[in-house]
Amino acid sequence: MSGIEAELVKEFLDCSSRGDVERVCVMMSQSSELMDQRGETGWTALMLAARHGHYELVQLLLSKGCDTTTTNRSGQTARDVALFWGHRHIARLLSSSWDGDVHHVLPERETEREPDIYFNREILDRMSEKRTDSEWLSAQRSSPRTVFILFHNLNPLVSPRVEDAGEGEPNVRLCKLRAGCVEELLRRSDTVVIFLGAEKQERRVETEGDELVTWFALNTQDDPTKLIQGKDPNASFQKGPMPGLLLFSDNEAGVVAQARSVLAWHSRYSFCPTCGSKTQVEEGGYKRTCLRAGCRSLQGIHNTCYPRVDPVVIMLVIHADGNQCLLGRKKSFPSGMFSCLAGFIEAGETVEAAVRREVLEESGVLVGPVQYQTCQAWPMPSCLMIGCHCVAMTSDIKVDQNEIEEARWFTREQVIGALVKDKHAVFNLPPKQAIAHYLIKHWTGFNASL
Ligand code: ZN
Ligand code: MG
Repeated sequence: MSGIEAELVKEFLDCSSRGDVERVCVMMSQSSELMDQRGETGWTALMLAARHGHYELVQLLLSKGCDTTTTNRSGQTARDVALFWGHRHIARLLSSSWDGDVHHVLPERETEREPDIYFNREILDRMSEKRTDSEWLSAQRSSPRTVFILFHNLNPLVSPRVEDAGEGEPNVRLCKLRAGCVEELLRRSDTVVIFLGAEKQERRVETEGDELVTWFALNTQDDPTKLIQGKDPNASFQKGPMPGLLLFSDNEAGVVAQARSVLAWHSRYSFCPTCGSKTQVEEGGYKRTCLRAGCRSLQGIHNTCYPRVDPVVIMLVIHADGNQCLLGRKKSFPSGMFSCLAGFIEAGETVEAAVRREVLEESGVLVGPVQYQTCQAWPMPSCLMIGCHCVAMTSDIKVDQNEIEEARWFTREQVIGALVKDKHAVFNLPPKQAIAHYLIKHWTGFNASL
């Protein structure tokens, strides 16, 4: 019995039969091994809770990762036991395949084309094969065709919107500088330079290598304004990140996503994460190498040497009735705004597990099937938002006040009201540049032009 006293197991199983959630909770916090232990009859706590219809206890055991596949001596799982005793709501909780009636509430994935989401468009070919060719890179850096975009403390240099620009026009444009303007800056040792790639249109017509238009991004900590020659007098650094980084055209947003994510990594990882020594920038800004001979990071491949991306799950939880979705608001949101729940994926965790854990932690709702929809690069500083739809197996909400101020079920009509900005709308959605907006809109079945 793996070191656990039979006495203790007996008490634990008795509490489970009675549905004593509080006591079970306390006992599990003292010994996590108790959870899947069998009693003399071969029954586990989960089977006993299922037998006696203790819904809340089954929820608790599931949330702790209790094994649902164990069988008793008659070959029954806890779900079989629940079905036998007529506790259908519990059987549904325990249904591992969710066969039956919940999958149909998930909207279909857009498979014909990838949704055109802000920050995702790539107008540059990254040409990663050229990153190790330092001769080629320095020739590109001095070419008169080359485009330089400049950041100061990760804020991009932008020109304001043209006065007579139309409704749908972007509010700001990246300032495209030429080699002559940034000569001075390029010489300074504290300027970080990264190679972004070459414009795709040029490559499509199979031009010679020397006709490429390549792009670089620079970042400085000191205000570089007086070092730039002949820039647009109206240009300024776009204070950000929100909503400043959401005001570009879709084409430029993709460039900003790439440049700012890599530059943000440089600004936070200047020293070797393995030994703390100085590092040098290599491979067009896509690698930092430790300068201390013998450092462990110099042998083999280490993800500490490359720009990192942090995966985040962001999900729209759909009620099993198919007609409501769960949205929450953080204290920091603009008033009236509700959005999808989200959270960082933890080390050693799958996307599905992270979705279930985050939803349970933040709202107390148990999630069944999870379906990936699409993703979004999010350069604040360097996340990948993995967008999912999922189905709720329970509907009671218990908010984690540390993370979320409020979470609520909204009906499809209420969500559509918010989408069309109806004057009677009961809440506001996040802006269309956010993947949350896409996930919510896609669920309602609204097409792209609405
Ligand atoms: Zn080192
Ligand atoms: Mg969280």
